[in-house]
Amino acid sequence: MYSFASISSFSSLPPSSLAIARHVMPYPVGEHGIARYTMLHGPRQSRSRHPHHVISVQWRDLLSPHANTSLGRPIRVNINIDQDLKPCVEDERTIKLPKSYAMNGGDGNYSYAQNSSYQRGAVDAAKELIKEGVAAKLYIKQLSSSSSINPFCIADFGCSTGPNTLLAVQVILEAVEQKFKSEKPTAQLPEFQVFFNDHVLNDFNTLFQSLPPERRYRAAGVAGSFYGRVLPKASLHFAFSSSSLCWISELPEEILDSNSPAWNKGRIHYTGARKEVSEAYALQYAKDLEAFLHARAEELVGGGLMALLVPAVPNVMTSSETTIGTEIDLLGSCLMDMAKMGSFSEAKVDSFNLPLYFPPIEELEASIEANTSFSIERMEILNNPPKHVAMPSVRHRTLFFRACFEGLLENHFGSHIMDELFERYSKKVAESSFTMNPDNDKSIFMLVLLKRKSESSQNDSP
Ligand code: SAH
Repeated sequence: MYSFASISSFSSLPPSSLAIARHVMPYPVGEHGIARYTMLHGPRQSRSRHPHHVISVQWRDLLSPHANTSLGRPIRVNINIDQDLKPCVEDERTIKLPKSYAMNGGDGNYSYAQNSSYQRGAVDAAKELIKEGVAAKLYIKQLSSSSSINPFCIADFGCSTGPNTLLAVQVILEAVEQKFKSEKPTAQLPEFQVFFNDHVLNDFNTLFQSLPPERRYRAAGVAGSFYGRVLPKASLHFAFSSSSLCWISELPEEILDSNSPAWNKGRIHYTGARKEVSEAYALQYAKDLEAFLHARAEELVGGGLMALLVPAVPNVMTSSETTIGTEIDLLGSCLMDMAKMGSFSEAKVDSFNLPLYFPPIEELEASIEANTSFSIERMEILNNPPKHVAMPSVRHRTLFFRACFEGLLENHFGSHIMDELFERYSKKVAESSFTMNPDNDKSIFMLVLLKRKSESSQNDSP
């Protein structure tokens, strides 16, 4: 007599409930009438996760009035862990994006650390431009007249788990050291402090374990959304962000509202969707970028620099014409296929949308120009390796997506569907002549170099 129990709702959850809920593993109800649920906690560490709570449910509990108990069939049961907390019942129509999510942690096969060669290409392509930018636009004497430059503080916003952030930091550090030496040849170099920022669920452990032992900087993690302020006012000299300013802070409500023309039924992104959907995403992106610039304007000292490597699309493209769009469409269609086969409801797919937006260049420029705290020092398309070079095989493409999106997908659909989903995705990519055709890869990175205007003067000069 074996049945399977699955938890359909939690009556209470510890604070990191979403992280825990998505790691619930159902076990068979054994002969002794005990269903065991291992709840795994904390940031996802590749495939090795540590049990945090084990709940045992007595068979008689499963026979409670709350449970649907047809033997031999899946049982749905509500479990109270702590009576004091409020019920947390999932409504498929109103699921919101978790406040924090992260790329796959650890350094295993599905990790971000192992599957971010495409993003690394952007950092590589920006190296020389960053060096030139620092040499031409960072005025050490001016900085030191208005603030302390010891320590010289650098921050990477949306650093993930490495290794790309470490490369970026090294490039910035060397460029700044070079500039110090040329402007103040006899002075001692300052100490360097690097702040690594990402969401609280980011696997900072993997990042800190991979810091180079011989580094010439102190390292600190700063967890929290970069759409708000994460550092003290006027404390930062160089801000950096790469491949991160495509993640919007929340999904526009109307795309989840079945009464709205922007309802994104049957899709997980704006590509190929009604224009109301992409307009809603664009609006959210513009709001978020404004918030990002506002927060950085407060943190940076007058004369401080900010280099952003922003995933974008050319002006002439509609997003559905870019490969990134169609790749996400393929993922969405795999989810719809699985819904049609009964793995979950179609409403579950309707309520899932990826919080990603790739602005056309003009839109990006307009948003940046609207912020008066910065002067635009440089803005150009990066010459980074395209996808078919950075990720030559279907396997690379699939792992790239899995490393980035698995956390969000697991949170919504459960971890049990991930292998099947990405197998399906891999097949669809392989069969898609469009996706694997290099001519169709139009996704670009924009390099944006900004300088914080000083409070007193709107026109900084050496
Ligand atoms: N900069 C790294 C990682 C890019 S992946 C690289 O170039 O490889 C994008 C990262 O941005 C992810 O780690 C994600 O968690 C982070 N991110 C997205 N939105 C964020 C936010 N609002 N606040 C902080 N980090 C965020």
